[in-house]
Amino acid sequence: MAQTETYKIELKGLSDGTYEYDFCLDDNFFAGVEDAEVAKGDVEVHLTIKKIEGNFDFKFTLEGVVKVQCDRCLDEMDCQIDAENGFTVKYGKENVDEGDKLVITEDCNEIDLSWYLYEFVALEIPITHAHPEGECNSEMEQLLQQYSGAKEEASDGEPVDLRWSELKKLIDNN
Ligand SMILES: [Zn+2]
Repeated sequence: MAQTETYKIELKGLSDGTYEYDFCLDDNFFAGVEDAEVAKGDVEVHLTIKKIEGNFDFKFTLEGVVKVQCDRCLDEMDCQIDAENGFTVKYGKENVDEGDKLVITEDCNEIDLSWYLYEFVALEIPITHAHPEGECNSEMEQLLQQYSGAKEEASDGEPVDLRWSELKKLIDNN
């Protein structure tokens, strides 16, 4: 993953207290995520870490826009991101990830947030997403309808009516 350094937090050095961080998830960030549904974006992330007695409380707010592919016309469309998320981190004997509770071993100096940040964004994208009615790329929509439709095309590009070809077979047989 590219540029991952930017999204690493060093935990070892933190004493009890509150810490604030800001990140920007830009096109570079999303390009670095393999097989990402989101290819581009501009999301501001604010992170507050509260450390109390060996517990790290991570709170994230995410605000911005990402580009996803429209289900209907496959063009890019904006998806608003406005989310709050978080988890707690503490030290333990082995690394455990329970979603909102992470346990990391003592020899783990820093935590890489890139994957979590991507997940927080991905959670905000509706399962089906399309442009508002009438705002799709009409050319693409027509093409897709042609391809997904029942029309068959002969090799020379002429549409073939199935009933006609059945009829033609009957005539040829006589
Ligand atoms: Zn569309």
